Amino acid sequence: MAKTPRTLFENIWDRHLVTAETSETPAVLYIDLHLIHEVTSPQAFDLLRQRGLPVRRPERTLATMDHSTPTLAASLAGGMPPGPAREQVATLQDNCREFGIELHDLESPQRGIVHVMGPELGATQPGSTIVCGDSHTSTHGAFGALAFGIGTTEVAHVLATQSLLQRRPATLAVNLSGRLGPGVSAKDLVLAIIREIGVSGGTGHVIEYRGEAIRSLSMEQRMTVCNMSIEAGARAGLIAPDDTTFEYLAGRPLSPSGVDWEHALERWRELPGDEDAVFDRSVDIDVSELEPMLTYGTNPAMAMPVTGKVPVPNGDAGLRRALDYMGLGAGEPLLGRPVDVVFIGSCTNGRLSDLRDAARVMAGRRVADGVRMLVVPGSQDVKRSAEAEGLHRVFTEAGAEWRESGCSMCIAMNGDSVAAGQYAVSTSNRNFEGRQGAGARTLLASPLTAAAAAVSGQISDPRQYLEDDGQ
Ligand code: SF4
Repeated sequence: MAKTPRTLFENIWDRHLVTAETSETPAVLYIDLHLIHEVTSPQAFDLLRQRGLPVRRPERTLATMDHSTPTLAASLAGGMPPGPAREQVATLQDNCREFGIELHDLESPQRGIVHVMGPELGATQPGSTIVCGDSHTSTHGAFGALAFGIGTTEVAHVLATQSLLQRRPATLAVNLSGRLGPGVSAKDLVLAIIREIGVSGGTGHVIEYRGEAIRSLSMEQRMTVCNMSIEAGARAGLIAPDDTTFEYLAGRPLSPSGVDWEHALERWRELPGDEDAVFDRSVDIDVSELEPMLTYGTNPAMAMPVTGKVPVPNGDAGLRRALDYMGLGAGEPLLGRPVDVVFIGSCTNGRLSDLRDAARVMAGRRVADGVRMLVVPGSQDVKRSAEAEGLHRVFTEAGAEWRESGCSMCIAMNGDSVAAGQYAVSTSNRNFEGRQGAGARTLLASPLTAAAAAVSGQISDPRQYLEDDGQ
């Protein structure tokens, strides 16, 4: 009898089922890796204490501190100032010590944003199930891992049982044909996808990104795409592992080695779904005509080509409100609009290739007068690598601030924030009201577009800078 074609999602889901779903109960799914950080874990550990429970598999749990840590070296060296952020960090230290969990503490050379650090360490592996009390856990799907963001109660459940209750999601294939043009990046691609399917387009689904456009991306670019799956409402994003994935993972500290590596490769090569696998839904997008993208509103689907014009609400109250908040007029172009702040960083675009992109635009140029530019590496490893290449000098000589790693201005929990009414071109992933500070106006963009805004002091097409340099 002919074998039923299967999706990548089915291959991972079925291998992790402890108990199948029924009409009354969700499935029980085994979790291979649990990532934790200082913000969403304290209450979960309290729940364990109340029940007198240990962490079931501490060796499958990995902790870092990223959301509220300072990015100024002086603040780190002198100790964090008293306040809620220091308390969160101290609580995570205590909890990891008490429950025997490996923590990448403030001094760890491997500390970083949880979704940057996991892949760098080789902890993120194809075919695994990964959870974290953070929405952008979808990032890890770039490796062909089924990765979910979970809530605090679920964090406690996974700590106690190494499993998760889940209803089986539906599947959505996003088929991407063609190749991205010069100056068009993975960030532009994912903003275009979210604009196409909407902020609820992936609700209840796991998205699998497929096709030539995805295959041609590096791992860092694939992470950018999967990172923002959650912004389309999806439960997770997935990309089938291939040689690009395996080359990235080879030799990393937590990757298998020797004979174990060979066995892992055999398993991982069996993961991709069948070409004729059936998805619950599918969307086809040709990426060859895409341009650099920019958001104009208060969700990531409110995005347009950088050369475009802000849409007219035509009775759309949500869009009207968004434009009022952003201080933008219907039908106006964004090119040439002055900006106040530029932020390069976050788990979406804080990796080495992102910093290289920004440096391509900034080399030999200065940050425009009146613009504040913050460059925050996604991890200490990214920071060291960037410094070894001299990228930090490109930024500091241009007049930008070069910081220690952390979430920083993506979430504005550590003091790095945008003032009310200011326009910030940001490489992060969320632009809702107040995300980067009360009253802050966020325009999401790629590192290339953000760097072009920094040196020109206004919204600009990054392709112009690459052409000027003959790149
Ligand atoms: S960089 Fe932003 S989106 Fe990513 S984990 Fe930190 S706060 Fe969340």
